Amino acid sequence: LQRAAPGVLDIEPYTPGMPIEELQRRLGIGNAIKLASNENPLGMSPKVRAALAAALESTNLALYPDGSGHRLKRKLAAMHDIAPECITLGNGSNDILEFLARTYAGPGRAVMFSAYAFAVYPLAAQAQSAESVVVPARPADDSMPYGHDMDAFARMLRARPDVALVFIANPNNPTGTWLEPTAIEHFLEQVPPDVIVALDEAYYDYQDPALRPDTRRWLDRFPNLLVARTFSKVYGLAGLRIGYALSHPTVADLLNRVRQPFNNNSLALLAAEVALDDQDFVRASVVLNARERARLTRALTERGLRVLPSQANFVAVDFGRDARPIHQGLLERGVIVRPMGSYGLPTFLRVTVGTEAENDRFLQALDEALTA
Ligand code: PMP
Repeated sequence: LQRAAPGVLDIEPYTPGMPIEELQRRLGIGNAIKLASNENPLGMSPKVRAALAAALESTNLALYPDGSGHRLKRKLAAMHDIAPECITLGNGSNDILEFLARTYAGPGRAVMFSAYAFAVYPLAAQAQSAESVVVPARPADDSMPYGHDMDAFARMLRARPDVALVFIANPNNPTGTWLEPTAIEHFLEQVPPDVIVALDEAYYDYQDPALRPDTRRWLDRFPNLLVARTFSKVYGLAGLRIGYALSHPTVADLLNRVRQPFNNNSLALLAAEVALDDQDFVRASVVLNARERARLTRALTERGLRVLPSQANFVAVDFGRDARPIHQGLLERGVIVRPMGSYGLPTFLRVTVGTEAENDRFLQALDEALTA
């Protein structure tokens, strides 16, 4: 039973935040809140909810979904001014990350990513028995503490010709840190053409517009670049599992070969299409996030805590000591956040930016947990 493919036994399984219902059951309460998985506190667009309700009446779910996602791809193609052949749809953008590892990694090939980067990168590499090359992050006292160091990426890439795939998260999860567009561009200029660079932009919309790279333009310049986006964050559709990638059509063609035939369900495809049409909802989500992220950061800083700079919909908070008891104290008060010990940052908690009321509730629970 233990005769797994090389690498699989070393995998530390991904541990998601506790579901609200489970905590409520344990505490015997009905009003727990979850600020643990960087979901949209506004939920989904009311237009998407209405379309899903109507679809439940009219859609024949006995039929397989459109396995190529034609309609959604056409919409995305128009939105990004790109050919539909450049688009790959995933069951969440995690699916895309896995397609990439299945397509380009494997025994004898290495996958490169930063320390303190998204947890799925090493999982995807290990599942393909590929080696993970972890690039040291920027130091704790840097202006972008624990963030990606693109010069170190370039140096490491020169030293490791076996690297076939590079993951860059911008903004990064779990730190929230981001990269100057020129730093990414300069790195891309140094990457050999047969190394695929996956730029994971799950939190793209949350960035200040002045800091958002013009990734679309880079796709024309760098055929080895892939950009991954998701409907799980600003579009509020994490429960439906849908994301997409933009890439050169040759890369999309290869990813399509390892993709399960019907990896996106009918309701997710529909929801994503309708969600794209409601950009007012996206704007409202972004505005709420920017305001509350600033307020949360201020409130935590006033409490003497260090908050990493964030352009995402969460903040990483350093308590300067083992954060597990604080995490536990919050749980006991019905507030679920994310410990960061599994990322190698045991003194940190990652807190998703919620609604104003949720953030107030978190701050109050935190004050109680810190003085208990
Ligand atoms: N990339 C990053 C950096 C993320 O933080 C997440 C979500 N936690 C994902 C990808 C995957 O999200 P999904 O599979 O829901 O699209």
